[in-house]
Amino acid sequence: MTTAAAIDLRSDTVTRPDERMRAAMAAAEVGDDVLDHDPTMRELEETVAERVGVDAALWVPSGSMGNLIALMIHLRRGDRFLAPRGAHVLGAELGTAAWLAGGMPDPLAAKPTPQELSAAIGGKGPYYTMRTSLLVLENTHNGAGGAVTQPDDHAKLVAVAKEAGLTVHLDGARLWNAAVALGLPPAALTVGADSVQVCLSKGLGAPVGSLVGGSVEFVAEARRVRKMLGGGIRQGGVLAAAGLVALSRIDDLAQDHANARALAEGLTEFGWQVDPPETNIVLAGVPDVEFALAGLARVGVLGTPMSGKVRFVTHRDVSAEQIRDALTRIHAVH
Ligand SMILES: *Cc1c(COP(=O)(O)O)cnc(C)c1O
Repeated sequence: MTTAAAIDLRSDTVTRPDERMRAAMAAAEVGDDVLDHDPTMRELEETVAERVGVDAALWVPSGSMGNLIALMIHLRRGDRFLAPRGAHVLGAELGTAAWLAGGMPDPLAAKPTPQELSAAIGGKGPYYTMRTSLLVLENTHNGAGGAVTQPDDHAKLVAVAKEAGLTVHLDGARLWNAAVALGLPPAALTVGADSVQVCLSKGLGAPVGSLVGGSVEFVAEARRVRKMLGGGIRQGGVLAAAGLVALSRIDDLAQDHANARALAEGLTEFGWQVDPPETNIVLAGVPDVEFALAGLARVGVLGTPMSGKVRFVTHRDVSAEQIRDALTRIHAVH
């Protein structure tokens, strides 16, 4: 069966900068961000810090680098850190948490309770006990199908971590999606975190860029570590300008969420095992993931394997009409 253009639901990272974004990039005011500061970078960093509820923020080329910088600052070599099972820092960053930040990863439940977290942290123990110094949270939780953590659940986990003397890093690659799903400002979901990472290159559609934020001292150190990792860039305003346009599109994510629900409902009608999506990620259980993905690709519907399931991610470059089209195509082969 031959098809029209593929409907690309592999990730919200496939979103392309549109004309308005490219025009903003072309017109950006720039300076040397390594020497002193690029004015558009500064504007983006200040805007994101305010949105996310931290004192300061630093632009980084990728979410992985943002997470890594935070881990490098929070961890000493050999420190144990905790993160929900399936977290990006555990399984999707090539082991850099251990390789470069020196951390000993220990997975929690995908959605840990405060009691489970407390038990995992454990008591202080004698001097030869491994030191547990960091909790990493992820909101939304990508591997758990874009699951949202409510602010009171977040607060309880942070309280347990703080009580035990841990620092908290929040991987908020899709914090915007969580905020839109809950109808809350992003800053309501970061309370108590020592550092936060947010992506502009996912559903918000920027070609590149994340920010890592926290206290002024944290960001000063993060700037040094970014330079160590080769992430210091010169006239970054060209990229920051795309980020500012991306930030103006947070409300549009509601459409992606509606599209994800429509996709999940359609697949459920076809008899697929699908949990109702909380945001823009649909995880579908199938008997054979690779076989299912190959069949889908033949009709021009692209997904990826994740958590032993087929993952579809809705995004701004796929319309509600294309979701209906995708369902028609899937129905034809299923
Ligand atoms: C995409 C993503 C990141 C960072 O990804 P990059 O590709 O490095 O920008 C981090 N955490 C989560 C949960 C993500 O989905």
